[in-house]
Amino acid sequence: MSDLNGFIKDVPRDLLIGGHWRPSGDGARITVCDPATGEAIAAVADGTRDDGLAAVGAAAAAQPGWAATAPRRRAELLRTVFDRMTERAEDLAGLIVAENGKTLQDARAEVAYAAEFFRWYAEEAVRVAGTVQTAPNGANRILVTRPPIGVAVLVTPWNFPAAMATRKIGPALAAGCAVVLKPASATPLTALAIGALIEEAEIPAGVINVVPSSRSGSVVAAMLADPRVRKLSFTGSTEVGRRLLTAAADTVVSCSMELGGNAPFLVFDDADVDAAVVGAMQAKMRNGGEACTAANRFYVQRGIAPEFSRRFTEAMRAVRMGPGTDDSVHLGPLVNADARDKVAELVDQTVKLGARVLTGGRTPAGDGFFYPPTVLADVPAAAPVLTEEIFGPVAPIVEFDTEEEAVRHANDTEYGLVSYVYTADLARGLRVAEALDTGMVGLNRGLVSDPAAPFGGAKQSGLGREGGHEGLLEFTESKYIAVAW
Ligand code: NAP
Repeated sequence: MSDLNGFIKDVPRDLLIGGHWRPSGDGARITVCDPATGEAIAAVADGTRDDGLAAVGAAAAAQPGWAATAPRRRAELLRTVFDRMTERAEDLAGLIVAENGKTLQDARAEVAYAAEFFRWYAEEAVRVAGTVQTAPNGANRILVTRPPIGVAVLVTPWNFPAAMATRKIGPALAAGCAVVLKPASATPLTALAIGALIEEAEIPAGVINVVPSSRSGSVVAAMLADPRVRKLSFTGSTEVGRRLLTAAADTVVSCSMELGGNAPFLVFDDADVDAAVVGAMQAKMRNGGEACTAANRFYVQRGIAPEFSRRFTEAMRAVRMGPGTDDSVHLGPLVNADARDKVAELVDQTVKLGARVLTGGRTPAGDGFFYPPTVLADVPAAAPVLTEEIFGPVAPIVEFDTEEEAVRHANDTEYGLVSYVYTADLARGLRVAEALDTGMVGLNRGLVSDPAAPFGGAKQSGLGREGGHEGLLEFTESKYIAVAW
């Protein structure tokens, strides 16, 4: 196991349950690897079902006290977590690079984004308003309040190990919910570090519990079956999301689901090519393409296609690939060998179906799970690269003639997370944005994520929203009191 320095060495390796750090019930450990080398870097406690249930017990014990804590106090504690996270930003970024493989630049951006959820929800914690109105028949008043929904189980993926956790913890704690966080097995260290920061901020024991587990199926199922759990907030693949929705049905647990994407990126003839290329690089290459919001399919109008393809290919070719720890690198390795092999297979299939490789397209020799920036042209409509989530630095380009055709292609998927549109004609941009069946649209913009905005998907990309005021309401229940006075 390679030696880790400073902050990373000090990150707890055990489960955080009820304010105590402890090993898993059966002593098992998860080996965490550096994707740039494939080497083991840490061994983290691997939670059992009973550990999961103990964490639910700790959260349930802390729940009434936390719900009764003044919103102002909750806000101040969240603000303290924001401050601490910001102070430790560089350390956290290094930790994310070590276990996820993304570049230092991406990791720094992730930490800033992740911390922002604590600041935003510190501000929102004191703005949970209800309503009061006179009943239509005048007999009474309709009073609606927004109490916390109760104990929440949070399940997060490896691709944004900090931000996907804080996007849930921030609003849950602001609303008055105690939580159990089950991070991805590939990246548990960042979640444990965030757990430790929250503890340092003196948020009461049991309000946040962190239980990494490679036995995610059985641990999460046990927690969902426990009637003390009232909320599941999941971010991950649509496939696992479907299974969890089924499991949550038994105890009728409220579910917020942030699932997979297959984002179309539309470029119209009148678009500013410079802006479209910058946006395409952001939407495709942020996080090395390992983002649910990653542009998965590029639909480019025939008139602008040669120039856009040439300039975009030049930009992709100029990307420096290497270990994320090198500050000058723009593309790190993929998270593991399976992820890299899946991307390589999608490219090979597409080429066999007749696509042209404009750059990249070959797995490099050597250590680590690297795959180069790749652009594919003349991609046939039947290619799986257009229907599956690529989750890597690969950009398939398809040409189109009319606006109606572009919208039809874009909507031809079961996913509906985000889409991107580039055009100089604002009326067209808004018309197309309205016609696109996605929860979010980037209009002349390649980045949509913002803690102040409601992030989430339509169709099979999810249920509910994270971020904005809506993100907080997901952790509340509407309570109606019919009152006569
Ligand atoms: P994943 O395989 O679905 O895993 C997500 C989380 O669920 C991990 O913590 C995982 O634990 C856990 N899990 C796996 N199987 C489970 C089961 N049967 N029961 C309960 N929990 C289970 O997804 P991933 O590969 O980590 O992440 C990539 C996916 O996340 C992509 O599809 C991406 O689009 C999506 N994503 C969506 C958003 C969004 O906001 N919409 C944001 C980021 C990512 P283990 O790690 O232990 O397997």
